[in-house]
Amino acid sequence: MSFDGAIVEPTVLVLADKSAGDWSTVTLELLGDAELLANKVGWTVKVMVFAAPGAVRDEDARKLAAHGAKEVHVWEHEKFGPVLVPAQYTHTLRSYLDESMPRLILCPSTPLWVEGVAAAVAPYGALVASDCVSVKLNVRSDLELVRNYWNQKTHATWTFSGQRPWVVCLHPGVAGVGRPNPALSAPVERHQAIVLEENVETLEWFPPHPSRLDLVEAERVVAGGRGIGGPEGFAELTQLAELLHAAVGASRVAVDLGWIPYSRQVGQTGKTVRPRLYMAFGISGASQHLDGMRDAETVVAVNLDKEAAIFSVAELGLVGDARAVIEELVRLLKPSERAEGARAGAAAALSNV
Ligand SMILES: Cc1cc2nc3c(=O)[nH]c(=O)nc-3n(C[C@H](O)[C@H](O)[C@H](O)COP(=O)(O)OP(=O)(O)OC[C@H]3O[C@@H](n4cnc5c(N)ncnc54)[C@H](O)[C@@H]3O)c2cc1C
Repeated sequence: MSFDGAIVEPTVLVLADKSAGDWSTVTLELLGDAELLANKVGWTVKVMVFAAPGAVRDEDARKLAAHGAKEVHVWEHEKFGPVLVPAQYTHTLRSYLDESMPRLILCPSTPLWVEGVAAAVAPYGALVASDCVSVKLNVRSDLELVRNYWNQKTHATWTFSGQRPWVVCLHPGVAGVGRPNPALSAPVERHQAIVLEENVETLEWFPPHPSRLDLVEAERVVAGGRGIGGPEGFAELTQLAELLHAAVGASRVAVDLGWIPYSRQVGQTGKTVRPRLYMAFGISGASQHLDGMRDAETVVAVNLDKEAAIFSVAELGLVGDARAVIEELVRLLKPSERAEGARAGAAAALSNV
């Protein structure tokens, strides 16, 4: 297939995001969508990663294969940090597209990706849609998209047809992560990236505060309900979240009582989360709450009532006072004064060497 003289390959290219140590949830969601689309029309799923040398190990690439990647291309450069700067990867992406223009590019709908990918594909006249919540091929093999508008207050359906390459940026946390197949493998090719933009670099990376960490993207969520007793309970929960690098979530009752903003609500009328760890403190486990967190990998629940429904989805349940458990966990996880003293002593001793 060709477009404006360029050969368009029957490929879905997924731009993978590995900014927080592991693949982001949205990367695995993109792979699930890519595999479904590719299987329908016989395309191949390729993955492209920009990372510092050594940051993507072979076992990381195997995880991409287990989620549907058929080829993994890792572009390495020492300037690629934990947060990608669009100006730094745009040149490499454009050179790759010069050689092999995929029919469809899928990337996370986050500002740093949308900005860089839109700049890279501009010379090819590709059709770009950001903030999509669903992507499908219809019976005519046109692409059918559902997009968010006005801060997710409404949606619209779009169709992309014709020969131009398509770029679809998917909203994190919507598609869900499929079950991996560890038996699958994919060849990994490593390349040296070229960074033309020398004037932009990341000087420091500030990990997000738990109260702002995106619930949907968080690997761990600590959530509170009516049983944590008030805003002061959430202040303690935030301390625990900081120690666990977790995001803070809440039940609707805690939100309705004004203890925490609505953006933190988990459930049917709040956010749907799929973290590796979900800790529920003083949450009864009403079905509307469970709707938003039942796919968490491991659920730990603390409740005074041993009959509470939350225990039905918990791998570990503790019958007890939520605040007392939070306090004890904070005490155990906080670096102790003795350890701090020993660290300071060692640092002083080393500075004399
Ligand atoms: C259309 C609709 C949509 C809804 N959407 C949502 C939604 O998105 N998210 C959501 O969460 N809810 C939602 N709800 C509300 C839902 O039905 C429940 O009312 C709500 O989840 C209950 O919140 P809770 O568990 O904090 O409070 P409660 O039901 O009052 O439970 C408090 C729990 O805390 C325990 N407890 C009390 N004191 C302590 C203590 N000291 N230590 C430990 N445990 C203690 C109690 O035993 C109890 O289990 C929705 C309801 C409707 C009708």
